[in-house]
Amino acid sequence: MGTRGRRAIPLLAFIAWLLASLPGPAVAIDTAPPRAVLDGSRTTYPLAGHLDYLHDETGTLAFDQARRLQREGAFTPLPPATSSFGFQPGAFWFHAHITNAAAGEPRWLLVQQYALSDEIELYVRYPDGRTVHAEGGDHRSFGSRSIRYRHPNFWLDLPRDTPVDLFFRVKSESSMQVPLVLYTPTAFSERSRDAQFAIGLYYGILVSLFFYNLVLWLTTRDSSYFWYVVHLTAFGLVLFTLNGLGFEYLWPESAWLADKSVPISICLSQMGVQQFARKFLDLSSRWRIGDLIGIAMIAAFALLGVASAFLPYRISVPTASAAVFISIGWVVTQAIVILRRGYLPAKIFLLAWAAFLLGTAMFAAVAFALLPKTFVTEYGVQIGSALEMLLLSVALGYRYASLRNENERIIRDGKQQLMHEVTQRTSELQEALTQLGDAHARLRESSQRDALTGLHTRRYFHERLPALLEKARDTRGALSLLMIDIDYFKAINDRHGHLVGDACLRWAARVIGGTLRPHGALVARFGGEEFVVALPGQDLDAAVRTAEHVRTALSATRCDATEGGVRMTTSIGVHEVACEDDEGLNQALERADQALYRAKSDGRDCVRTPGAPATS
Ligand code: GH3
Ligand code: MG
Ligand code: MG
Repeated sequence: MGTRGRRAIPLLAFIAWLLASLPGPAVAIDTAPPRAVLDGSRTTYPLAGHLDYLHDETGTLAFDQARRLQREGAFTPLPPATSSFGFQPGAFWFHAHITNAAAGEPRWLLVQQYALSDEIELYVRYPDGRTVHAEGGDHRSFGSRSIRYRHPNFWLDLPRDTPVDLFFRVKSESSMQVPLVLYTPTAFSERSRDAQFAIGLYYGILVSLFFYNLVLWLTTRDSSYFWYVVHLTAFGLVLFTLNGLGFEYLWPESAWLADKSVPISICLSQMGVQQFARKFLDLSSRWRIGDLIGIAMIAAFALLGVASAFLPYRISVPTASAAVFISIGWVVTQAIVILRRGYLPAKIFLLAWAAFLLGTAMFAAVAFALLPKTFVTEYGVQIGSALEMLLLSVALGYRYASLRNENERIIRDGKQQLMHEVTQRTSELQEALTQLGDAHARLRESSQRDALTGLHTRRYFHERLPALLEKARDTRGALSLLMIDIDYFKAINDRHGHLVGDACLRWAARVIGGTLRPHGALVARFGGEEFVVALPGQDLDAAVRTAEHVRTALSATRCDATEGGVRMTTSIGVHEVACEDDEGLNQALERADQALYRAKSDGRDCVRTPGAPATS
């Protein structure tokens, strides 16, 4: 890339602007600068050190006047180190004495290695009085250049050993820079070839990053890719313009764009930078105030961009260049703040801008002679910005991956939470079901048990009896029924009261249950003070014996519900179910009841069977 092209990058424009505010070249040399002798030992000949100059502040001097003033010694020698005058009104005249002593090189190319000068006029005065005049600069059409090249250039006929006077007039809105170099045709073609290759390499990187991220934006629809592409394009445009390539390839006929494209592209690129940083660092949700400042910066650059279309170059460019420093400083601040808040992708983002700043700082250090001119320092801006663009592209990939991981983590956590809740709900449900089952069992139990005595209910007895009968039939075993009734119970109630009556009922139930338990009997309260019993496996005789047990067990002891105790007797009817005859259960119960009736009528406190049928 051309040395003077780099010189015009925003930073240098800024530095030049600073320098411009100082008084002109500090060191003036009294003696006239030495004649430039092209002696054939070199094929490239910078004119620095061989020039004297005159600042024509009104810009009105004609060539003849300038030539006369030069002869009269009104020109000031230009120290070799001075190549920039900053932003200056009017025109500058530069002059050099040149003698070509090289054999076989009658044609040389004079190149002004700074792309942005507006109007350039070249006058070559030969000893025979002939004057050759040529024009250049980006206010002339690109096609008028001697060679289609991004820097203004002029063919010079320099006959051997003929001293010529070269006058170079420059008038420009941009900074006043005159890095003039003479090349032999071969030297120029070699040099421009290398420069074009470096430029191609640089823009190749930018173009591939452009398409890569454009495709990523189109596929992911993540707007930070879009703003990255905007930034890259606009920054690429800044360098493209400053290198003179914008004028060569994009607007070869437009002097207006040649002037305005620099500040406008600077503003565009910074709008892209700020918007990209906002999206990349997700400022709207991470740092509200930072986000608002970012928006304000974008608005400021938009305003400045529009204003530069109307403002003079010497105001718009230094302002935009200074604003770039604020803008990049702000982006770095944002990245540090967001990184300290634990957002890791900001690390690569920060590294990218550090590379850019380092490259630019190295370039600036060369300009201030703080660092030696080496490939890395000289091409600091290009290397730094290419690295920056590459790292930003990497940062975008890293951010994409970390967003994806974050999403996956959220989904995983969500799943785990869901699983946890499902397990919890299931166990709660199971507990409720168990409780419901328990309640149901208790309810069932209570419906099966008589509340007062704790014996089975009559209903339960009826439910269970068919199974006992079935079993007896299947096993050809016996099944007997007892019908037990307490004698004169009404009298107990009457004498002692209902509560004592209840206690007596409970006691009687306990004694009956206890006596029958060893027999595997099914005992139920039939109603009132009456109990019913099924005795599986007992025939009539066995059942009568069991009934006697019950009767004597009750009459032998007293219920202690009252002080003196209550004595109770029972009458019991016994009936063996005729399993073979298919006797019905109701019928069998009726028969037992008949037996009970017999016991009552036989004077109570006794056990009776139904006896022979009435006919026998
Ligand atoms: P019998 O010897 O003829 O059986 O005479 P009884 O008095 O025992 O027979 P009756 O059928 O005339 O009277 C039964 C009494 O049992 C009437 C009722 O007051 C009493 N009784 C029934 N159920 C209960 C109860 O749950 N608690 C109390 N305290 N008494 C009851
Ligand atoms: Mg009774
Ligand atoms: Mg009764």
